Amino acid sequence: MEQIVSRRSERHAAPSQAATDVLARDEQHLIPVYARYPVVMERGEGCTLFDIDGKQYLDMMGGLGVNALGHAHPRMVAALVEQAGAMVHLSPQYSNRWPSRLAEKLSDLSGMPGVFFSTGGSEAVEGALKLARTHGRQVGGAAKHGLVALRGSYHGRTFGSLSVTGQDKYSIDFGPGLPGVRFLDRNDVAGLRAAVMDETCAILLEPILGEGGVHKLSSEFLVEARRLADAHNALLIFDEIQSGLGRSGTWFAFEHTGVRPDVLILGKPLGGGIPLSALLVTEKLFHSFGMAKHGSTLGGSPLACRLGCEFLEVMQDEHVLDNVRAAGARLRSRLLALQERFEEIVEVRGEGLMWGVELTVPARPLAEAGLERGVLFNVVQGNVLRFLPPLILTESQVDAGLDVLEAIMEAHLTPAAGAVREEEPVAQVA
Ligand SMILES: *Cc1c(COP(=O)(O)O)cnc(C)c1O
Repeated sequence: MEQIVSRRSERHAAPSQAATDVLARDEQHLIPVYARYPVVMERGEGCTLFDIDGKQYLDMMGGLGVNALGHAHPRMVAALVEQAGAMVHLSPQYSNRWPSRLAEKLSDLSGMPGVFFSTGGSEAVEGALKLARTHGRQVGGAAKHGLVALRGSYHGRTFGSLSVTGQDKYSIDFGPGLPGVRFLDRNDVAGLRAAVMDETCAILLEPILGEGGVHKLSSEFLVEARRLADAHNALLIFDEIQSGLGRSGTWFAFEHTGVRPDVLILGKPLGGGIPLSALLVTEKLFHSFGMAKHGSTLGGSPLACRLGCEFLEVMQDEHVLDNVRAAGARLRSRLLALQERFEEIVEVRGEGLMWGVELTVPARPLAEAGLERGVLFNVVQGNVLRFLPPLILTESQVDAGLDVLEAIMEAHLTPAAGAVREEEPVAQVA
């Protein structure tokens, strides 16, 4: 546990020639679509990353929620090596033991009996939209193609998923997108009633909006979405690519309200870092696609599915959900304590190990200071610090990361009126 956070002497060390070279090659060859941080990562171990110069970082962003078991988990490494030696890819026209094994596990956990595998999250969203359209056509004819989604949502970067993502900044340059999409504000029950009609084929929701800044949907809103979907013979689709598979402290975020979807979309951590996403459906939708109407060459490979199985087994064997709840409670209380101390913190919200801290100021400078001090923080929406750490993050790692954040906030933010200032700033030095 010691030396989670880098030594003070390393903090301002200039990047090595090796690091500078990689960053320069990135700039020369990679189309610049990511606001990258000036660091070159080399390897990871649990919740720690090491850069090319050997400096350590505590990982509070978990590869955007993918690295649920941290980095290089011994069981994941062993499964990967063994399966790579046996078979990586197989045409989906042939059978292999791993896809149905993983599908069975996912069905047992979710209660949804049908599974289709694809690669990334966006691809699974595309599958869900196609399923909604074909189902709509089957039950209501071609006019039943309308989609209802939320402003501030995030469903991916491909054309269909972008068309249902309620953030203009991502789609404005690529329009027009899919026709027939209606957007409304989260938790606007009256707006939902007005938007859902007989022409609606699906309502698409993230039970906890992730990229949009970590916002939970209210139970009332979700219950009404379920009722309206049933009343209009539309599908209720939950995109749990980010909130699912343990992130919220239960296997799926929908368990918090008990509202069940017709279609559940999973991704991010599912393949342990190997691209894998899944579309899960209820019994009534098992045959909705029809033969040869959908597919994915690389989706659900033996390697990805085997890692998916191993991921779920490790989650169970190591009681990771218990840890999510314990470490999540610790993270929550530390963040709420920060909110008491600093003027610029507007709101702290989340569940399990998925948290957002909304600020009145840009959050990027805090993340950059975190990088210098050896802790990785993530920023969304410009002013929200988002926490998606590995689900195996321990409570003492929460404290180590939050001690650093507190010291950074002391340097960057304003003490709240009436807040008790601590004697010594808790700059974390291992
Ligand atoms: C990340 C994410 C996606 C997109 O997944 P990709 O793997 O990047 O295509 C879709 N929906 C939600 C809720 C996500 O968090």
